[in-house]
Amino acid sequence: MNYDDINITEKKQFFLDSVAKFCDKCGGPYSVDDVKILQDTKTSAIIHFSCHICKSKHIASFVAKYGISSRVPINTDLEVDEVQKFSKKKVLSLQNILDLYIGIKDKTKITI
Ligand SMILES: [Zn+2]
Repeated sequence: MNYDDINITEKKQFFLDSVAKFCDKCGGPYSVDDVKILQDTKTSAIIHFSCHICKSKHIASFVAKYGISSRVPINTDLEVDEVQKFSKKKVLSLQNILDLYIGIKDKTKITI
Protein backbone atom coordinates (compact mmCIF):
# COMPACT_ATOMS: atom_id res chain seq x y z
CA MET A 1 0.00 0.00 0.00
CA ASN A 2 1.50 3.32 -1.00
CA TYR A 3 0.99 6.72 0.54
CA ASP A 4 -1.84 7.70 -1.80
CA ASP A 5 -3.83 4.59 -0.88
CA ILE A 6 -3.47 5.34 2.82
CA ASN A 7 -4.48 8.91 2.14
CA ILE A 8 -7.61 7.90 0.24
CA THR A 9 -8.59 5.32 2.85
CA GLU A 10 -8.17 7.93 5.58
CA LYS A 11 -10.30 10.38 3.63
CA LYS A 12 -13.00 7.78 3.13
CA GLN A 13 -12.91 7.01 6.84
CA PHE A 14 -13.23 10.73 7.55
CA PHE A 15 -16.34 10.98 5.35
CA LEU A 16 -17.75 7.87 6.99
CA ASP A 17 -17.29 9.48 10.40
CA SER A 18 -18.53 12.93 9.48
CA VAL A 19 -21.20 12.35 6.82
CA ALA A 20 -22.78 8.95 7.26
CA LYS A 21 -21.99 5.87 9.27
CA PHE A 22 -25.12 3.95 8.39
CA CYS A 23 -27.25 3.35 5.34
CA ASP A 24 -30.41 5.49 5.27
CA LYS A 25 -32.47 2.67 3.85
CA CYS A 26 -31.55 -0.48 5.75
CA GLY A 27 -29.55 0.94 8.65
CA GLY A 28 -26.59 -1.28 7.90
CA PRO A 29 -23.14 0.09 8.65
CA TYR A 30 -21.15 1.48 5.74
CA SER A 31 -17.65 0.22 5.21
CA VAL A 32 -14.76 2.09 3.62
CA ASP A 33 -15.34 0.07 0.45
CA ASP A 34 -18.87 1.54 0.15
CA VAL A 35 -17.51 5.07 -0.11
CA LYS A 36 -16.34 6.64 -3.32
CA ILE A 37 -15.11 10.21 -3.47
CA LEU A 38 -16.42 11.75 -6.69
CA GLN A 39 -15.00 15.19 -6.19
CA ASP A 40 -12.73 16.60 -3.55
CA THR A 41 -11.55 20.17 -3.31
CA LYS A 42 -10.27 22.10 -0.33
CA THR A 43 -13.69 23.59 0.27
CA SER A 44 -16.15 20.86 -0.58
CA ALA A 45 -16.54 17.26 -1.56
CA ILE A 46 -19.08 15.04 -3.26
CA ILE A 47 -19.21 11.52 -1.97
CA HIS A 48 -21.04 8.49 -3.29
CA PHE A 49 -22.25 5.91 -0.79
CA SER A 50 -23.26 2.52 -2.04
CA CYS A 51 -24.66 0.17 0.57
CA HIS A 52 -23.12 -3.31 0.31
CA ILE A 53 -26.12 -4.82 2.09
CA CYS A 54 -29.21 -3.41 0.33
CA LYS A 55 -27.44 -1.88 -2.71
CA SER A 56 -29.10 1.51 -2.26
CA LYS A 57 -27.08 4.50 -3.32
CA HIS A 58 -26.72 7.97 -1.86
CA ILE A 59 -24.88 11.05 -2.94
CA ALA A 60 -23.64 13.42 -0.28
CA SER A 61 -22.10 16.82 -0.43
CA PHE A 62 -19.79 18.06 2.26
CA VAL A 63 -18.81 21.68 2.85
CA ALA A 64 -15.52 21.66 4.67
CA LYS A 65 -15.61 25.26 5.87
CA TYR A 66 -18.80 24.78 7.86
CA GLY A 67 -18.47 21.06 8.46
CA ILE A 68 -21.98 20.54 7.12
CA SER A 69 -23.20 17.84 4.82
CA SER A 70 -26.37 16.88 3.06
CA ARG A 71 -27.30 13.54 1.68
CA VAL A 72 -29.83 12.51 -0.92
CA PRO A 73 -30.79 9.07 -2.15
CA ILE A 74 -30.35 8.56 -5.86
CA ASN A 75 -32.75 6.33 -7.67
CA THR A 76 -30.66 5.24 -10.55
CA ASP A 77 -29.20 2.18 -12.09
CA LEU A 78 -26.05 4.10 -12.93
CA GLU A 79 -22.93 2.63 -11.49
CA VAL A 80 -20.59 4.94 -9.65
CA ASP A 81 -18.19 5.07 -12.61
CA GLU A 82 -21.03 6.26 -14.83
CA VAL A 83 -22.08 8.91 -12.31
CA GLN A 84 -18.50 10.11 -12.36
CA LYS A 85 -18.44 10.12 -16.14
CA PHE A 86 -21.71 12.03 -16.60
CA SER A 87 -21.03 14.50 -13.80
CA LYS A 88 -18.10 15.81 -15.82
CA LYS A 89 -20.27 16.53 -18.84
CA LYS A 90 -21.29 20.06 -19.59
CA VAL A 91 -24.88 20.98 -20.44
CA LEU A 92 -26.71 19.38 -23.32
CA SER A 93 -26.67 21.37 -26.52
CA LEU A 94 -29.78 22.19 -28.49
CA GLN A 95 -28.44 19.91 -31.21
CA ASN A 96 -28.29 16.97 -28.74
CA ILE A 97 -31.95 17.47 -27.92
CA LEU A 98 -32.89 17.91 -31.57
CA ASP A 99 -31.02 14.70 -32.45
CA LEU A 100 -32.90 12.85 -29.73
CA TYR A 101 -36.23 14.29 -30.88
CA ILE A 102 -35.61 13.28 -34.50
CA GLY A 103 -34.50 9.86 -33.34
CA ILE A 104 -37.67 9.12 -31.38
CA LYS A 105 -40.41 11.16 -33.09
CA ASP A 106 -41.58 8.39 -35.41
CA LYS A 107 -41.47 5.67 -32.80
CA THR A 108 -44.67 4.59 -31.15
CA LYS A 109 -42.98 2.82 -28.29
CA ILE A 110 -39.75 3.57 -26.49
CA THR A 111 -37.98 1.05 -24.35
CA ILE A 112 -35.28 2.31 -22.05
ZN1 LIG B 1 -28.50 -0.40 3.02
